[in-house]
Amino acid sequence: MNRSESLFNEAQRYIPGGVNSPVRAFKAVGGTPVFFKKAQGAYLYDVDDKAYVDYVGSWGPMLLGHNHPDILAAVKESIELGLSFGAPTAIEVEMARKVCELVPSMEMVRMVNSGTEATMSAIRLARGFTGRDKIVKFEGCYHGHSDSLLVKAGSGALTLGIPNSPGVPAALAEHTITLNYNDMDSVHQAFSEVGEQIACIIVEPVAGNMNCIPPVPGFLEGLRSVCDQYGSLLIFDEVMTGFRVALGGAQQHYNIQPDLTTLGKIIGGGMPVGAFGGRREVMQHIAPLGPVYQAGTLSGNPIAMSAGLAMLNALSAPGIHEQITAKTAYLTAGLRERASAAGVAFLTNEVGGMFGLFFTEQQQVNRYSEVMACDKERFNHFFHGMLNEGVYLAPAFYEACFMSLAHDDQALQHTLDAAERVMAKL
Ligand code: PMP
Repeated sequence: MNRSESLFNEAQRYIPGGVNSPVRAFKAVGGTPVFFKKAQGAYLYDVDDKAYVDYVGSWGPMLLGHNHPDILAAVKESIELGLSFGAPTAIEVEMARKVCELVPSMEMVRMVNSGTEATMSAIRLARGFTGRDKIVKFEGCYHGHSDSLLVKAGSGALTLGIPNSPGVPAALAEHTITLNYNDMDSVHQAFSEVGEQIACIIVEPVAGNMNCIPPVPGFLEGLRSVCDQYGSLLIFDEVMTGFRVALGGAQQHYNIQPDLTTLGKIIGGGMPVGAFGGRREVMQHIAPLGPVYQAGTLSGNPIAMSAGLAMLNALSAPGIHEQITAKTAYLTAGLRERASAAGVAFLTNEVGGMFGLFFTEQQQVNRYSEVMACDKERFNHFFHGMLNEGVYLAPAFYEACFMSLAHDDQALQHTLDAAERVMAKL
């Protein structure tokens, strides 16, 4: 038994499923989750000292690779000054200003501790601002695990076959209308029926929780115009895409301005952080300025702010996103070549530093139904083959993969060589 196996055995005695977040348990792909002890650049090191090229990046935050020196230095400096004050700090102001500069649709921003808190608070704000109860989301999109949003959810909920979680009151779930991603017909239909009752549309502007599904041309534009027509708010959940697909997020990449934006992952540089923000007029409804309540003991934590600010400053250097996008394109083209040489039906989707791998005969995968039609068993074999070869992919077919700036030629070549061997055996 290796150390991961013995740790997993022990973990299961004390922690439900042995993990603190469900997808980590390898339930979808089978086998024992790998326990890690350190990370550096593009690599993870497990408790048995095996190295892996990492395409999970802590599920998104590690856009610059693990242990970026600027972020480590900022955190070390901050720790010496105190761990938490529960009172305002200068670094929060600097962080808020930086976020509003990078994402201009955010005129004001409130820091929270996770993506779940960000989306939950944004939904409450949209409801409080509009005085309406209904919200629209899309099947296969995941916005964290708050009650209103755990309806036909993606990511782990989808992986484990519980997109509608027990424990969410039906009376609340009935206010969540779930439509088809990339399908404006379903949106027009819903709005023509109950548009005046809809507080907001929340959408992943690139869906990353049913693998990786970019928006088809016209989809985000269509959402913007239907919201304008009915006085509903458009919320871009950029917890995953923010600062990743472009410095200004998907809204910059696709040039669409949402009313509210939610952020997480990269904004904390690896520390637990989320944020929501948007139009001043809307954000002024949040307490203490307005009546919509939202709060947090550790919100704006100085260490988290230091990590996040160092991250955003480092990302603001010219050319970072171009480099990451080029790395993604190089890798996915290489993977398609290896698949084709091995006679494996395979395609990829990608936007900037996120991408998806699909084992399928289909010519494109743009819809939830097309995602569901892919060969998940084949992905599971590929996953384990790659794991064995020292490449760590997300342990579930429904997750996007993440590139980082630290993925150098050696890491990418290792991945492609591994894929060549694994694809040959699929
Ligand atoms: N929104 C999106 C788009 C996400 O991908 C996630 C997490 N994967 C969340 C919200 C929830 O964030 P957290 O896990 O930090 O609560």
